Amino acid sequence: MKIEKNIPLTKYTTIRIGGNAKIIYFPENTNDLKKLESIFTREKTLVIGNGSNIVFKDKGYKYDLICLKRLKKSLSIIGSKNIYASAGTSCARLAKYAYNNSIPGFEFLHGIPGTIGGSLRMNAGAFGSEIWDLVEYVTVINNKSKLVKLSKKDFRISYRKVDMRKNKAFIDVYFKFNRNKKFDKELLDTYMDKRTSTQPTNQWSSGCIFKNPNTKISASKIIDEANLSKTRIGGIYVSKKHCNYFINDGTGTCKDLEDLIFSIKKDIYDQYNMKIENEVCIY
Ligand SMILES: Cc1cc2nc3c(=O)[nH]c(=O)nc-3n(C[C@H](O)[C@H](O)[C@H](O)COP(=O)(O)OP(=O)(O)OC[C@H]3O[C@@H](n4cnc5c(N)ncnc54)[C@H](O)[C@@H]3O)c2cc1C
Repeated sequence: MKIEKNIPLTKYTTIRIGGNAKIIYFPENTNDLKKLESIFTREKTLVIGNGSNIVFKDKGYKYDLICLKRLKKSLSIIGSKNIYASAGTSCARLAKYAYNNSIPGFEFLHGIPGTIGGSLRMNAGAFGSEIWDLVEYVTVINNKSKLVKLSKKDFRISYRKVDMRKNKAFIDVYFKFNRNKKFDKELLDTYMDKRTSTQPTNQWSSGCIFKNPNTKISASKIIDEANLSKTRIGGIYVSKKHCNYFINDGTGTCKDLEDLIFSIKKDIYDQYNMKIENEVCIY
């Protein structure tokens, strides 16, 4: 198993900020997961995927990190209504796999640059769908370091949030699909075109910084309407293409990001008496 010590976390987050990690373990199979049993039970141990919705402070992370993106990638169709996927598989790969097998419902996942594990943790979604809409069962490592299979109803799931108080990591998942639903061969490309025309997908960011306050108005629209689209602090600035994306120009720090988040939240509150909540996870 690969282990990295005292390594810059800029390497493991898509916004490329943060100090050093004390140690990162990269398990590749169930044997490696077993070797990490005692680490999984530590309260401050954090599991990460592709780092596309997580940011670390400039002082770094001094506890154990376990990155699941090297976990053996596996995708298969089980029977007539399930897809099995391991947590380290990328959302794009899952979406393409479903597409290549003419299975509808997974198209929205294509442009989400995370692992399936991270997406389950965040209840990632786009274009009116969320990943947990598709889940039947998951295998998790619980807080006692045991591998257990749980069904969707064992979780409290809401917008970009899953209650993980009893569990530490998603290891794999059985998605359900419905062949009777119409398969639209154009949908995956339509979503990708929409995404690339409205979001800064090729710049250093963590995706959406804030949750949308409700289903009627997006955080991006509020930031834009509040005239905050030109705001910048240090090396982090609000994207003009999508105001809920904050971009690192290459010199940004976590302090810049936190200050920008604070400043935008304050301005929104002052102008609209509205509190907006972080989607990005900062440690
Ligand atoms: C350009 C861009 C576009 C994006 N578009 C979208 C979008 O359309 N919709 C959307 O919802 N998000 C979007 N995101 C955000 C992000 O891609 C998703 O939240 C993604 O699901 C995170 O997966 P990850 O593997 O990168 O997780 P990470 O960022 O590594 O981790 C995110 C959280 O999940 C936890 N975690 C990670 N892996 C596991 C695991 N196996 N078990 C338990 N917990 C785990 C981490 O501790 C952390 O709290 C976008 C991000 C970018 C940069």
